[in-house]
Amino acid sequence: MTTMTRRTVFAGNWKMFKTHQESLDLAKGIRDGVSEIGSREVIVFPPSSYARAVAEICRGSKVAVGMQNMHFEQEGAFTGEISPPMVRDCGCRYVLIGHSERRHVFGETDTDVNKKVKAAFKNDIEPVICVGELLDEREKGLTAEVVRRQVEAALSEISSDQMIQVIIAYEPVWAIGTGKVATPEMADEAHRYIRQFVKSRYSPETADALPILYGGSVKPDNIAGLFHMEHIDGVLVGGASLKVDSFLDIVRVT
Ligand code: PEP
Repeated sequence: MTTMTRRTVFAGNWKMFKTHQESLDLAKGIRDGVSEIGSREVIVFPPSSYARAVAEICRGSKVAVGMQNMHFEQEGAFTGEISPPMVRDCGCRYVLIGHSERRHVFGETDTDVNKKVKAAFKNDIEPVICVGELLDEREKGLTAEVVRRQVEAALSEISSDQMIQVIIAYEPVWAIGTGKVATPEMADEAHRYIRQFVKSRYSPETADALPILYGGSVKPDNIAGLFHMEHIDGVLVGGASLKVDSFLDIVRVT
């Protein structure tokens, strides 16, 4: 049996920020700043309108590009949506699925998330699946239950072979864009539940190889504590990924 190495991933979600030129400048700065990062992987999620241009800039570099969202149908009358083939056509290797803003602002359900994960695989796109509890759910002691429900639903009918290409991001909703970061211990505990669930559903090897990223107000001054936890394999960064220097400080954490 071959042992799979767990990947270390630093991802930047630019959300609905940056113009065309600003996106190109940010992509160039990141691309030029990550040449010495060894086996660490970097993914950027630019606004959809600039994904292709950013992918051109990052081609052949250590920076991969992903889309922030997509529809699960191959094509159709879905005004304003982006299809999986369009995501591929823009040069994206990854797609973010189930980001809390998609779930809580746009009403995406666990079922939608699962359909999108399946659509990603059908189109040779690697999903970065986001899960995380609301503040109220944490305060009621429901974190493990909520995260398990979200992961279980997202992975419904996903095979062991496909699991090798899944990345999960644990992003407690109360920590996203709020400046309130989960403590390294809180994040690590949630990551451990996720790994435990994947172990019971798939295999110890699959669980061990799964990259689980933490997201929620990650900044250069709090990355070190998080990054050194056993079950935290990288981070998904929003606000601090919008500036070259702060994102590079995070990616280069020692
Ligand atoms: C995010 O958008 O996924 C995120 C974690 O944002 P922030 O780092 O700004 O909290």
